[in-house]
Amino acid sequence: MTGEDRVAAGWERLNARLVKVGRPDVHDEAFRRTGTLVNAPVSRGSTVLFPDLDTMRRVGAERYGHTPIYGAMGSAVQHDLERAIAVIEEGRDTQIVSSGLAACTTALLTWTSSGGHCLLPDSCYGPTRRFADTMLRRFGVEATYYDPMISEEGLRAIMRPNTQVVFAESPGSHTFEVQDVPMLARVAHDGGARVLLDNTWGFGIFMPFTHGVDVSIQALTKYPGGHSDAILGAITVGSEEDWHMLRDAAIQLGQLAGPDDCWLTLRGLRSMGVRLARQARTAWKVACWLRDRGEVAQVLFPAFSDCPGHEFWERDFSGAGPLFTVVLTSGHDRAAMERMINGLRHFGIGASWGGYESLVLPTTGGVSRSLPNALPEGPAFRLAIGLDDAADLIADLEGGFSRL
Ligand SMILES: *Cc1c(COP(=O)(O)O)cnc(C)c1O
Repeated sequence: MTGEDRVAAGWERLNARLVKVGRPDVHDEAFRRTGTLVNAPVSRGSTVLFPDLDTMRRVGAERYGHTPIYGAMGSAVQHDLERAIAVIEEGRDTQIVSSGLAACTTALLTWTSSGGHCLLPDSCYGPTRRFADTMLRRFGVEATYYDPMISEEGLRAIMRPNTQVVFAESPGSHTFEVQDVPMLARVAHDGGARVLLDNTWGFGIFMPFTHGVDVSIQALTKYPGGHSDAILGAITVGSEEDWHMLRDAAIQLGQLAGPDDCWLTLRGLRSMGVRLARQARTAWKVACWLRDRGEVAQVLFPAFSDCPGHEFWERDFSGAGPLFTVVLTSGHDRAAMERMINGLRHFGIGASWGGYESLVLPTTGGVSRSLPNALPEGPAFRLAIGLDDAADLIADLEGGFSRL
């Protein structure tokens, strides 16, 4: 298999699943006599009316199921999306929340408690880190950071008797270290802790529960939404015990998402495999072109053999996300890089990723790091590759290098 085929393979295999999940099945008993629309209708509402108090009590006791009880506990379209995400992740159940960040914070609040401790990778998403350093700390939960490339012995040495959560994010935000998740799970479980994985980059191409993860977090804003028009998050669990803990916490925190955002995300999901296969192929071409440029010290892309943790990507992932970081050689200063970025026409300057449009964002390996790391010196920027043509993107970057 060529490198380009390898980064796209997992996305291409997803399509059969994506066309069916979270929508009515015409062969269900309920539709035998009437047929059904292809898509379930968008349901709006706060109050659910019941014919009598007994029915209200019976339905109200089903908070762990998917029967609408009250609008704040989720609408029918939210529950459709939850079932779809659980199937794609191969988990037991999913809770939709208001954003990807809310998925990280709700999960941390669910599985930690005062006097506890959690371990987070030094490469984790910046806002997750800020939450751990501020609110979690205020509630008496200590957070310490570990090298995302930590060895098994190293991790065993920093586990504490009160460690409740080993958080992982693979690959890491901006620096793309791929983590040895099965090893993390082994050590965490030996110490009685849960593994929470931010699986946003790996959604659909990394199966968390077959690798020992207890809780998988997704920013649905990225690939599933895919059109930069909705913010949404999801938390998926593998066991009934964790499902009850999560569902209770989400209800207590008032976490849900509006029906329009859920509907947009279900719509985005249908084409996720097709979009991402194409975007991954283009990312591969652009990253290979960049790697050969004299101005570039390194392209941090999990599919490249010099990316930290590439062997775990090779072992555990069926494809690659269209997102990577380009580190320039140290002869270039930040002002030169900004000149390059400001003149780009096919790459938009903006946060987020996973949409159909290509984006560029300056970054540095040192941002919100507390541990020494082996990242190359030099200014760096992150590229999110969209549905553009590779030739256009390469020409745009070539023009950028002439402004360096
Ligand atoms: C974008 C992102 C989030 C947050 O998602 P939002 O929906 O923007 O809040 C969380 N984790 C990772 C890894 C992300 O890239």
